[in-house]
Amino acid sequence: MLFDTHAHYNDRAFDADRDTLLASLPENGVGLVLCPGCDIESSRDCVAMAEKHPHVYAAVGFHPENLDGVTLSDLDTIAAMAKHPKVKAIGEIGLDYYWVKDEEGRKKQRDFFDAQLSLAEQLNLPVIVHDREAHKDSLDLVKAHPNARGVFHCYSGSVEDAKTLVILGWSISFTGVITFKNARKAIEVLEWLPMDRIMIETDAPYMAPEPYRGKRNDSRYVYRMAETIARVKNLPVEEVIRITTENGKKLFGI
Ligand SMILES: [Zn+2]
Repeated sequence: MLFDTHAHYNDRAFDADRDTLLASLPENGVGLVLCPGCDIESSRDCVAMAEKHPHVYAAVGFHPENLDGVTLSDLDTIAAMAKHPKVKAIGEIGLDYYWVKDEEGRKKQRDFFDAQLSLAEQLNLPVIVHDREAHKDSLDLVKAHPNARGVFHCYSGSVEDAKTLVILGWSISFTGVITFKNARKAIEVLEWLPMDRIMIETDAPYMAPEPYRGKRNDSRYVYRMAETIARVKNLPVEEVIRITTENGKKLFGI
């Protein structure tokens, strides 16, 4: 049974077939899905989907690209939503310096990441971290919250940073990027990473793995990430599926 630990089924790309697709996942080998929110509205949508589908769980939080017009007091709404029994994490939260270049915007991202890490510590929930071209600041903020734990999703950092994260007790998850021909850096991280810290995800509707690259992605393709990990780790794919699902269940308390 596969666990897609990160898929955005609130996305418009699923408007035509969302519920049928979600309902069909268990018979296609995907027994668990976690849908992270990016703001109040998408977090609410993820909770609603989790209420409707027994195998779907939610995370709630503010993504670093969704902070326009948002103030720290809006985190009260996130905190209230996080009490729902199917909310298993605060996420996705983090830093994205690729899209935001100005120092003021980046400072706001750091303030929200910091505050949401504190919230997760208070609520004793894991976090789902988005880190794009902000590796140093992301790691520094995580280090400043020794009681926070969680996963760096769609990992794009170095082996060295991965080692630091593992020592701090964190996990790392991989998208279809690892199936691409030019995925040298992520494969190096995978080669080193202990199996008990690896999770898999689609990041649907984006990031479809080979041979579906460029198409709409969904959880049925998450087996491709398990196949790549099996090849890199020289393990049977069934074993990779079993371990990554266990890792996800353990981290999110499912
Ligand atoms: Zn995402």
